[in-house]
Order: sequence, then C-alpha cells, then structure tokens
Amino acid sequence: MLIKTRCIVLHRFPYSDSSFIVKALTEESGVISFILKGGKRKESPFKGALDPLALSEVVFRQNPQKSSGDGLLFVKEATLLDWHGNMRNDLMSTAVAQVMAEIVMRYAPPGVPLQEEFALLNRALEELERAHSSDQTSTDAAANGTGTSANNVFAQWLLDTCDLWGYHLDLGTCSRCERSLEEPPADFHPESGGLICRACQGVDTPRARIQTTAGLWALRSRQDIGESRVFVENALLAYLRNHIGFLKEIHSLQWLQEIRKLCSAQTT
Ligand SMILES: [Zn+2]
Repeated sequence: MLIKTRCIVLHRFPYSDSSFIVKALTEESGVISFILKGGKRKESPFKGALDPLALSEVVFRQNPQKSSGDGLLFVKEATLLDWHGNMRNDLMSTAVAQVMAEIVMRYAPPGVPLQEEFALLNRALEELERAHSSDQTSTDAAANGTGTSANNVFAQWLLDTCDLWGYHLDLGTCSRCERSLEEPPADFHPESGGLICRACQGVDTPRARIQTTAGLWALRSRQDIGESRVFVENALLAYLRNHIGFLKEIHSLQWLQEIRKLCSAQTT
C-alpha cells in the first residue's frame, strides 16, 4: 500500500558509506524510519526534503505484512514543503526545535498514529518560522499581539504536550485552596505541578524563582514571557520529567544549555 503523508523530520543519522536513516513524524502513520540510499551524494533526488526539522510530503510503501511499523521503509518521493529557513537563522529557536523533535522521537511508540503530536510540533515550527520572518504580515501580527512570540513557543509546546500526554497543568488555580488565581502565584512545585497562591504560601519562602511564577502567569495569558523563558521552560521540563521519567535521554538539551549560555553572554 502506497502512503502519501506530510511529515516532520525528527532525526537523521549516517548509515553505511553513502546512506542515511531518517526518523520522521508523519501526519498519518506516527513515527517511521526511512532508509535513504545514496543520500549523502550531492545529487540526492530529495535535496533538503529529509533534512532534520524540515516539513515535507513523502510517499512510501507500507508493508501490510509488518504491522509493527518498526522496519526500515524506502521513500519513493519526498517533496520539501517548508525548510524553516528563517527559524534556522536563529540559534536558540533551532536548539529548542531540536529538543521538541527529540522529545517526540524518544516518547513516541513506533507504528501508532500521532496526529495531535504532529499538529503541535508543526504549529510550533510554523510559529518559530513566522517569528523570525522579516515580511510585513508577521511584523503586523507581532505588533497586534496576534502572533506568538518566539520566546513562548517552546514553553507553550511543553504545556500543550503535557496536556496531550495526560499531565494537564492548571495554571489558573491554587493547588492547595483550589481558588482561582487573581494574581501571579507565589510558588510552583514542578514535581506535582502545583501552583500556590499568596494566601496559602503565607510566610514560607517560595522554592520557585519569581521569574518562574511570573513567567507561568504570563504564559497563561499568552503574553510574551521574555526574559523568563529559560525559567519557565526548565520548570515545565522538570514537570514533564517528573511525570514521564524519560527526559534524561534528551541529548539535545545539553546543546540547548550551551546556546542559552551563549545568548545570555551576548545580551549582558
Ligand atoms: Zn491557595
């Protein structure tokens, strides 16, 4: 059976002298692995279509004998839809995109449809691409507050992914008294995901930094989280890690740490 689907390339690694193995999140068939013979040659017919983080349309044959979906597939056609060239010009955005792709790759079981994961990752990459685009529509969107700030994309994706995977994080309620929060929370506990209101916090010293609680509050109202992004991202990663326990293997997190250091050195 021939399958035609959009996909986002999650990872690509060399295989033998001239080939690559490509892991991609497809819209229709979840995560699949392709073998790309001769992919290292310059005249590869797929050009950038199977570069990591590219959005492409692929045609491949799915073997109905093998229902597990973990075998290597051959791509018949691959058409590049969006290489995300503007996003790639920004180190930080590229680094967070790699972390998102790797989280999906490590988590996602093979051979299971992951339409919502595809939609979330696709949207995040689109937003990063748009945020770094220089054309007028995106400038207008940013001015009107309708576009998502590049600062928020990773944090929002983490929040939505927690929700999708069954670990909903309620940013609007105090986890102790269960009242709606009317102001930024006083504390956040990543192991439980609990926000604590000022009244419940009382005189206790909060464990979370002010940047974390203020940033989570801004994220909830879709305001630019700006300088708080690293704190918010780390808090949400810690929350996800506590619930899934697989994040130790996310190798691209180390790279993200390096980029963060580099970027904060530039601004100070
Ligand atoms: Zn409370």
